[in-house]
Parts: sequence; structure tokens; C-alpha cells
Amino acid sequence: MATISRVRISLQLKISASYIAIILIVVLLMNTYPLLVSQDLVFRSKRTNLISSASALNAAVAGLEELTEENVSQALAAVESEGISRAIVTDPYGKVLYDTREAGNAAGHYVFYNELVEALRGNSAMYSVYKEGAFHSAAAQPVLHRNQIIGGVYVYEFDTRQASLLETLRNNLLSISIGVAVLVLAMSTVFSHQLTQRLDSLQAAIRGVREGAYNQRAILTGHDEFTQIAGEFNDLVDRLQKTESARRQFVSDASHELKTPLAAIRLLTDSILQNETMEGDTLREFVSDIGQEAERLSRITEDLLRLTRLDSGVAEIPSRIEAGPVLERVVRMLRPVAEEKGVDLLTNCSNAPAVIATEGELYQILYNLAENAIKYNRRGGYVLVRIEREEEVTVITVEDNGIGIPDEDQARVFERFYRVDKARSRAAGGTGLGLSIVSDTVSRRGGAIRAENGPEGGARFIVNLPCLEREEAEA
Ligand code: ADP
Repeated sequence: MATISRVRISLQLKISASYIAIILIVVLLMNTYPLLVSQDLVFRSKRTNLISSASALNAAVAGLEELTEENVSQALAAVESEGISRAIVTDPYGKVLYDTREAGNAAGHYVFYNELVEALRGNSAMYSVYKEGAFHSAAAQPVLHRNQIIGGVYVYEFDTRQASLLETLRNNLLSISIGVAVLVLAMSTVFSHQLTQRLDSLQAAIRGVREGAYNQRAILTGHDEFTQIAGEFNDLVDRLQKTESARRQFVSDASHELKTPLAAIRLLTDSILQNETMEGDTLREFVSDIGQEAERLSRITEDLLRLTRLDSGVAEIPSRIEAGPVLERVVRMLRPVAEEKGVDLLTNCSNAPAVIATEGELYQILYNLAENAIKYNRRGGYVLVRIEREEEVTVITVEDNGIGIPDEDQARVFERFYRVDKARSRAAGGTGLGLSIVSDTVSRRGGAIRAENGPEGGARFIVNLPCLEREEAEA
């Protein structure tokens, strides 16, 4: 019990933990990767724009020999500086000759922006950062005349539009991922709750059956693997219930069967003990009756042991047994009994068929069927045992023209202790177990048995038994 609940808690924990881990990873990826990619795309486009703007300004002043405020202003008057927040042109020392900014115009002052300083050393420079809700980008290039640095061009852009687009994207992604996380968490809670509820109900059913309530069943809901397990469990309990009721019935029948001869022995011994003046002949008769009852007891116990061995499933390894010689032995044993009862015992086993069983099993099948056919016969009757091969099966037919079996009893005669006429069976020394032993043995060897009416009013038993070894049959 403790183990089961620990397993359940850890199962629930595992499910929730894996869901949370997956959600965290997905949320993290959703909130970083697309933003990083978009930011990178903006940086690239800024770079291209600014470099081309700087180049355009540079190209406009590149033809000048020396840069002055006037000639730079003239040269740049026609140049369009769209998409740029500020453009500066300096002399080689960093003194501003031209500045597009109106408020805080730096003309005449020295500026030392890093990129510009780099440009005045002869190298192009560029940067772009995203800071406080805006993209700040700058690019600078040296202005050359005959390979001499005569000044620098510096362009700068302050962009809040793309930054706000990026900010909107970030907010949307965050809202979507929160929504998805909440949905997945809610679904996982519902799912794991349902799963534990179904586990609980299966567990309750298992516990009930363990306590002996064989009518308990697991509730089947849904169509998943869990439903399959619950279905399998229910089938298992069905079988268990059937086996248990058969076992109870068997024990009660067996004790009843054993009780009858025991009660008779008890009665006979009491009579002998109480009657001190009993005559010798009567006494001998009583003792002989006791002997007969004891023999009956021993027959019943022998048959019960045989059935128990069959039930336990411990079977000898079968092999291919020639049926002819076994039938001969059975006939040798039963011929005197048949003669005594005035019954003709005939056999027909021409093409030497075989069966896959043990010799003891085949003997038992033939003996029990033939013995019954003699037992439930009448003077002048016959018993015919035929063994024939039909493709992969050997068919054993035992027919007689005796008292026969009523149609409604034909299926039931294989049940343990079932007898059509109890008194007659008892008088004939029957135990009611002979046909059960035959039918259990036949089905253990993969065969089938049935009873029907004989051609002349008696009974006919037909047994089909495989006669090819499994490998032979498959080949
Ligand atoms: P039993 O020990 O009573 O013979 P079986 O299991 O061998 O027990 O047979 C069960 C019952 O089937 C018998 O009691 C009998 O009523 C009936 N039966 C079996 N074989 C025949 C037969 N050849 N003809 C008529 N009745 C039969």
C-alpha cells in the first residue's frame, strides 16, 4: 500500500516536473531566439544604411583638395541625408566643419567620437546598440585626397520606431508564452489528476480482489492503454472467479463422494460392533461390503489424484505413439469384463495411426471410453473402437448400442462427478470422474472430444488428437 502510493506520488511528480521543464525550455526559447534574430536583422540593416549614407557624403566631398566650412556646405547642399539623425564632417584634426543638427550644432568645435577618431586614423568604423528603447547607430569614414586624410565623415542614427516594433514583438511573445504555459499547466494538472483517479479505482479493484471480493471489477473509461490494462485485469478476475467457483464445487463434490462410502463403512462397522451375536455368514457379508466401499474410496482417490496431476499442468513430454499396440493392451484388459457382461468388443485399426501424447495418456483415454461403453451396455450388445487417421489428426471413435446418453446430458458427462444415472454408475463401480480425466487429457494434447448418439441407440464418443509433431505440422 505504502509502496503503491509512493509510486503514484513519484509518477505524478515526474509528469508535472517534465511538463514544467518542457514549458520552461519552450518559454525561454520563445523569448530569446526570435528577439535575438530580429535584433540582428535590424543591426545588419542599420549597418548597410549608415555605411551607404556615410559613403554618399564622403563621395560628395571627396573631390575637394582641402575641406573648409564653405566648400563642404556647398558640396553637401545637394546630398540627401534621409534616415540619418545627424551628419558631421570634420577636418583632419576633428574640428567640425559641417553639422546637420540644429539644436547644439557643433560647427567650429572639436569632437572626439570614437568612430570619428578611428576614421581620422584612416579606418572606417561603425557601431550599433539597442539601449533604453532605441537603436543608436553610428558610422565614420576618412575623407581622402590623393591618399591623404583631409577630414572625416560621421553619421549617426537614433531609431525608436524599429525599437518599438521589437518591444511590441517581445511583449506579444511574452503574453503568448504565459498563455501557453498556463494552458499546458492546467492540462497537465487535469491529465495527471485523471490518471491518478483511474489508478486509484484500479488499485481499489485489485485490493478488493486480493481480499477475496471476486465480483469486484475495474471501471473501464476511455480507449487508451490504461483501459486495456483495466480490461485485462477484469478478464483475469473473471477467470479467477470461474476457477475459484469450480474449485469450491469440486471440493464440495469430492467431499460428498468420499463421505458416502465412509458413512457406509461406519454404519457397517457399528452394526458389527453392536451385534455381538451376529452369524458368521452375515458378518462375512458385512465385511465384504466394507471391502467394496474401501475399494470405491481408493478408486475415487486414484481418479482425484489423476485429475490433480492434470490440473497442476506438470506433464510428461509427449511423443509419437503408435495407437495399435496400445489398443491391443486395452482390449486384453477389458475382454474378460466384456465377456462377463455378454458384450462383443470389436476393434478397427487398420492403417496403424499414431498420436502425439504419452503412452499412459492414450491408454487412459481408450480404457476409460471402452470401459464405459461396456459398463453402460446390455447383454448381447457390442462395443466398436475405431482408430483412423484423417490428414493431421487421428480420430478415435468408441461406439456402442447400450443404454445411450440423453441429448441434454451429452455435453455435461465430461463434468467432474456428473452421472446420468447415479445409482447405475455407482452399481457399476463408477466414480463420475472417468470422462473428466479423458477430456482433460485430450485437451492437454491439443485435441477435442464430443459425445453423440450411436447408430443403434447407444452412445458414440469421438476424439480428435493431433498425430503430427509440431515441427512436422509446420513443415
Ligand atoms: P462413471 O465413473 O460414472 O462412469 P464417467 O465420467 O466415466 O463416470 O461417465 C460419466 C457418466 O456418463 C456416466 O455416469 C454415465 O451416466 C455416462 N456415460 C459415459 N459413457 C457412457 C456410455 N458409453 N453409454 C451411456 N452412458 C455413458
